[in-house]
Amino acid sequence: MNTRFDGKVVLITGGGSGLGQATAVQLATEGAKLALVDVSADGLARTAAEIEKAAPGTEVRQITADVSLETDVERYVAETKKAFGRIDGFFNNAGIEGRQNLTEDFTSEEFQRVVAINLQGVFLGLKHVLKVMREQGSGTVVNSASVGGIRGVGNQSGYAAAKHGVVGLTRNSGVEYGQFGITIKAIAPGGIMTPMVEASLKQVDPVNWEEVGRQFSSSNPMKRLGRPEEVAHLVAFLLSDQASYINATVISIDGGQSEQY
Ligand code: NAD
Repeated sequence: MNTRFDGKVVLITGGGSGLGQATAVQLATEGAKLALVDVSADGLARTAAEIEKAAPGTEVRQITADVSLETDVERYVAETKKAFGRIDGFFNNAGIEGRQNLTEDFTSEEFQRVVAINLQGVFLGLKHVLKVMREQGSGTVVNSASVGGIRGVGNQSGYAAAKHGVVGLTRNSGVEYGQFGITIKAIAPGGIMTPMVEASLKQVDPVNWEEVGRQFSSSNPMKRLGRPEEVAHLVAFLLSDQASYINATVISIDGGQSEQY
């Protein structure tokens, strides 16, 4: 059994579904204690049940909170600190896709909603977790960016702006906090089969969305979508001591999609 996270405390936002859930299960099997944050209490309960199956007895705190609200962020950090005394790893991951539209058809409200959760939420998480990590003199953060944070994808003005911002925050804060023994990295996933991607395919065609998924996969160099577990392995590595010299940078996990012409 892998024990890379024995005695370590990891905080995960968006822990109720998809990449957050898969990462929580992976880290639990490696010995981590977990604080899981999500707007969905049901999602958190589902993840806790998966963890109990995969790694019985894991200490898990379920915290219902909205990452775009600073009072909620202060609360999830305080609750984690109260429960476990420290925060060794932070997967700053909660996000939404928002509606797909041409830029001219984006409402300001929709743009602001996507940016509030995907960018402001990541900023607030950094602001309050880094304070704790600086007091400890150690810690590692992985922010969820996206292919849409390093390339143009189309029909996603709010999402693209927010995810490019997440890459900028990662580079900036990594450069700031390396001197304090803290590393900050981002992942740029693309086409991983989670509820978010299913909803995205349904926006294109609510009936034949599986066919849309097949067409989307056929344009990927690997001719398939990624699995949440594949991302969980990357995040676990990036949060572990084995990735101690990776800082202020973005790692793609998209089957090569963002590299092909
Ligand atoms: P998902 O929809 O399966 O999970 C996202 C979770 O975040 C959900 O449980 C949701 O309830 C939660 N959430 C949403 N808004 C929240 C808020 N305001 N406060 C707290 N929790 C909130 O999506 P996923 O595919 O697992 O995506 C996770 C992250 O990875 C997102 O930031 C997403 O943009 C990014 N990402 C995913 C893919 C992919 O292919 N799946 C690709 C690129 C980037």
